[in-house]
Amino acid sequence: MPDGADERVPGGVDGHNRTSKDLPDRGSHTATSWVRAGLRGAVPTRRGTATTERTTVRTTLIYGAGDVHVEEVPDPVLREPTDAVVRVLRACICGSDLWPYGLLPSSDVGQPIGHEFLGVIEDLGTEVTGLRRGDIVIAPFMWSDNTCDFCREGLQNCCRHGGMWGFNGAAGGQSEAVRVPYAQGTLVRVLGDVDEALLPSLLTLSDVFPTGHYCALRGGAGPRTTVTVIGDGAVGLCAVLAARRLGAERIVLMGRHADRTDLGRFFGATDVVPERGAEGVARVRELTGGDGPHTVLDCVGTLAALETALAVVRSGGVVSRVGVPQYTEGPVGYGGMFFRNVTLTGGVAPARAFIEELLPEVLDGRVEPGRVFDRTVDMSGIPAGYRAMADREALKVMIQP
Ligand SMILES: [Zn+2]
Repeated sequence: MPDGADERVPGGVDGHNRTSKDLPDRGSHTATSWVRAGLRGAVPTRRGTATTERTTVRTTLIYGAGDVHVEEVPDPVLREPTDAVVRVLRACICGSDLWPYGLLPSSDVGQPIGHEFLGVIEDLGTEVTGLRRGDIVIAPFMWSDNTCDFCREGLQNCCRHGGMWGFNGAAGGQSEAVRVPYAQGTLVRVLGDVDEALLPSLLTLSDVFPTGHYCALRGGAGPRTTVTVIGDGAVGLCAVLAARRLGAERIVLMGRHADRTDLGRFFGATDVVPERGAEGVARVRELTGGDGPHTVLDCVGTLAALETALAVVRSGGVVSRVGVPQYTEGPVGYGGMFFRNVTLTGGVAPARAFIEELLPEVLDGRVEPGRVFDRTVDMSGIPAGYRAMADREALKVMIQP
């Protein structure tokens, strides 16, 4: 889901696209362990001998604001012939998980949480074709049949049989294993052996990279466009990467955290503006010849971010927003945007529609969206991972069960 990182806006230093030499290697890229080979002997144990069979798995439940627990739950099993059971190799905490983490009313009943994961298929229903046990698969942040009219239009988030992890009895993704409905339509296989160092970037295909891509695509980012990205959370940074990949000429990133905006420059931002509000708007205007950018990508979701987007966009331009809106009213009426023929687009990204397109460049290392992960925890470290993200000590936390 869209980011929800707090708003960070502009401030200016010039910059140009960086090469991979400009950022320190984060350690994992030198590893040459091959995931499938490494797991071959360890995976399908659930149907194995009694000594290796699992009866419970650990999963993450939220009971209210700031109240996240990792608990044992029954081992997921197939319920429908279209299901799969996936053992999770990597999951992560989303910026949008921070909204319930900050606001959810307290309850005696834990709500499963987490919607980004990749893993290995352990078990398959009889009606699933095109997937095999042992396959490494990416799960988009919503499941879908990939066959209904909405899915065929590339709007898998509106699937007539779709749903979201953690709701209506489905497991959350921050788990050791997950039952996946409509596995054939939902899961995307990664063919061949996979370098373990690629797992973080592959994991971003679950949500933040396709979400940033969708935001940029809907915003019309491309050659001869100038783009402003609001927000330096994982989605904002992936939106920079996506805009660059789509050919945007100039990309102004509005964000205030130097370590994040440095990554934004690595991903393709040409300018960084840390100022917020009117000051930030003025700075972006100054950088874009006085008129503002053709495309503004709101990757935050607060009213302040939308106000900044609408104030800064060039007349006739496009505001694309993927940050989950945290407001019910605002300057979206006549005077704010209608009068100036500004198109507001974006929405829930159909991540499933983009994984096959984005996957090859992740696999061959042309893009490294996995650099958004700056901390890894095990299952017992998940509550601390939430605290670190809520306190902005971590950009995005990966979970290695
Ligand atoms: Zn569908």
